[in-house]
Amino acid sequence: MESFRKIAELYSEIEDITSHKKIVETLASFLRDLEPEDVRVAAYLALGTAGPKFEDIDLGIGEKLGVKAISATYEIPEEIVEEKYSTLGDLGDVAAGLCRRRRSSLDMKDVFEQMVKIRDASGKGSQNEKVLFLSRLLGRSTPDEAKYIIRIALGQLRLGFGEQFLIEALAIAFTGDRKNARRIDDTYNICTDIGQLAQSLAEHGVSSLGRFSIKPGRPVQMMLAKRIDNFEELEEKFPGEMAAEEKYDGERVQIHVDGDRIRAFSRRLKDISDQFPDVIEEVHKTVKVQKMVLDGEIVAFANERIQPFQDLMQRRRKHDIEEYIEKVPVAVFFFDLIYLDGRSLLKKPYYERRALLEKSLEKSDSIRFSRRIVSSDLNKIEDFFNKCVEKGLEGIIVKSLDEGSIYQPGKRGWLWVKWKKEYVKGVRETFDLVIVGSYYGKGKRKVSFGALLCAALNKNENRYETFTKVGTGFNDDDFEEINELLDKHFVDKVPANVLIEKDMQPDRYIEPSVVIEVLGSQITASPGHTAGKNKGDKGLALRFPRFLRIRYDKGPAEATTVEEIRGMR
Ligand code: AMP
Repeated sequence: MESFRKIAELYSEIEDITSHKKIVETLASFLRDLEPEDVRVAAYLALGTAGPKFEDIDLGIGEKLGVKAISATYEIPEEIVEEKYSTLGDLGDVAAGLCRRRRSSLDMKDVFEQMVKIRDASGKGSQNEKVLFLSRLLGRSTPDEAKYIIRIALGQLRLGFGEQFLIEALAIAFTGDRKNARRIDDTYNICTDIGQLAQSLAEHGVSSLGRFSIKPGRPVQMMLAKRIDNFEELEEKFPGEMAAEEKYDGERVQIHVDGDRIRAFSRRLKDISDQFPDVIEEVHKTVKVQKMVLDGEIVAFANERIQPFQDLMQRRRKHDIEEYIEKVPVAVFFFDLIYLDGRSLLKKPYYERRALLEKSLEKSDSIRFSRRIVSSDLNKIEDFFNKCVEKGLEGIIVKSLDEGSIYQPGKRGWLWVKWKKEYVKGVRETFDLVIVGSYYGKGKRKVSFGALLCAALNKNENRYETFTKVGTGFNDDDFEEINELLDKHFVDKVPANVLIEKDMQPDRYIEPSVVIEVLGSQITASPGHTAGKNKGDKGLALRFPRFLRIRYDKGPAEATTVEEIRGMR
């Protein structure tokens, strides 16, 4: 097993690099020299995590526990640790300053395994356990190692890159060609465990990519819908019959059934089973097969009516779950089935998947199938759309019924198309943008922020390019909530995967992590923003932006892309 020192050296090297290409190359040459088994662990650690993203990667160590662990390890009173923390501003630096050990006995696996133990400690007494495990690691590390161990434990490694850089590095290290990153990314949409994928690439190179299929318990990236600008485009996109379905504004959910083990995953692939025990129980009652993976949308539902999105948000909680099951009852509208009793259905056409879905599950009060019509007549589709809007729904999702209407994990393609009521008005559209910086405000806002610099994802360049500066639409609660979310993500310099114009530099930089939904009414060319900027071409900017809500269900990788924005102009 490789020593942890090596990865600590890698972190320190990368911290000083700002070029995307250089970071990827440095990562690649590091990975290339490792044994395949080490590659798995290194992939998780490179991202500062203790496992695949669908296993809750929050270790549950906050600043308070971090202080306790440092105090216990170096036998220094907590007050002094706190004092040093307020001077240095980084607990990792505090630990490094107190650590006197010259030689380390840690290897990567030790650190990884302890991190998993920290993560998994739960229930009564778990806080002490977490502190103990962390302190054990600190007791065996050198100053530099201690610094990074603390940062990983707090979820604050902040190296300025995400999964996409790692995928490029894997392509270079194990297939010899950076161009294979796209293929690796496609496979990563199916096998969402980056460690497993990395190890397999290290063992078998590019040939490993065809080997992955769906496995119950390991979530798959969800398929998404593209937007159209004119209703008439539907005719061109779907020459024959199409299925128009109600578009529900709730929370996307993928439910994995593996015998008695039933898990629910969010669009960000987080395990949300504990939030929705009522849904799990109902699926258990209504399921007619042994193993399957379902795709659908959870909505707040009472008196046969879909309730507002805000109601559903009250179910996003760790405590008082039973109470809120009563207060905010939910229903799931299922619309797809991608795995059934040992077989992946990804390559089957949609009409077949839908038919199997309806056979595999019994309908009930809270388990439903998405309501839809199948027709080739645009008038009928428009009628259906109008009825949806009257009912208070967002709009419709129209799906291809073609032979080739496969399920495309993680893709926003033309097989599914969304048509929303905002489009009809033709002017306003919403964007899911990543916060990359903040500007100080005046008066009350001085303490938090006056405006946020928001970016779209440029998929070709694997980076976030600024698109707008949002300063309106926030109420006091929003300020507080956003501040809390951003707290962990402030960084000293522009992250390597963010591009900001000189004149637009914010007061504080923020690593891409938090996504907000922004309403805007005009896309213009602007020299101040970098979205879609090319040699000679100006960037794109959103005018009259207004904050709508925090998109807890989206990570930076799911943000609106520059390509989509170009398509809307
Ligand atoms: P948007 O978030 O605007 O890109 O819209 C896509 C989202 O609509 C998907 O991620 C789903 O969560 C949601 N959705 C609601 N109803 C459906 C449906 N019938 N079929 C597919 N997706 C749906």
